[in-house]
Amino acid sequence: MQKIIVGNWKMNQKLSDIGAFFTEMSKIKMELRVKAMIAPQSIHIPILKEMAFTLGNIYVGAQNVAATSNGAFTGEISAESLRDLEVDFVIIGHSERRQLFFESNEVIQKKVAQAMTHSLPIILCIGESLSEKEKQKTLDVLFEQLSSALLNSSAVDWSQLTIAYEPIWAIGTGKTASFQEVIEVHEKIKEWCRQHLKVEVPILYGGSVKPENAPQFLSSELIDGLLVGGASLRAQDFKAICMSAPR
Ligand code: PEP
Repeated sequence: MQKIIVGNWKMNQKLSDIGAFFTEMSKIKMELRVKAMIAPQSIHIPILKEMAFTLGNIYVGAQNVAATSNGAFTGEISAESLRDLEVDFVIIGHSERRQLFFESNEVIQKKVAQAMTHSLPIILCIGESLSEKEKQKTLDVLFEQLSSALLNSSAVDWSQLTIAYEPIWAIGTGKTASFQEVIEVHEKIKEWCRQHLKVEVPILYGGSVKPENAPQFLSSELIDGLLVGGASLRAQDFKAICMSAPR
């Protein structure tokens, strides 16, 4: 399967940065070795879609979606509106949303349901904190996050689902989980999906991925791709990560 590389730009990149990013990306024709995806700030989605269309091989997504359908919810962005913009995917449950914006498993379940209802492909982020890891609670936490987000939905199309395993302690810290740790966790998540969803779900790893460590992660069949924060802001690094996938 083609590896998936997702750049999460978070609340970064001015219009001029975006222009420079795509100019740089267009200099070297990227082989279609991976499925490259970028989630900019929502306000930039239309312009990115235009640039990505010109470049031809980059998918554009949102970093978040509202937990409710259209209505009086000032400042929110609905799944219906994202669908209208022909957004290619939406990230749900990123640890920054869980921690900084207090998104509970229940809220995340509602966001998943909204995205499913409007046929938006989902990247569901799950991950444990350092203290949970130290107490050897990693799998309990991940399975709880998966169950609450996915097992209460009435609208289900699991073919549209990707899961990103992102240990919280590895995000933006420069620390990565070891290759072996990631493989073991991915194997368990895949088993969980087979048992509960009856499908094979692609699993991405995220947490301080850089051009230097990407090749090892991408060498495993248990790692279907990478979710990249900081290193996706520089076109050269993002491209290097995309190019490090095996042929
Ligand atoms: C992320 O934002 O999901 C992420 C993994 O960030 P970073 O690559 O900077 O650790």
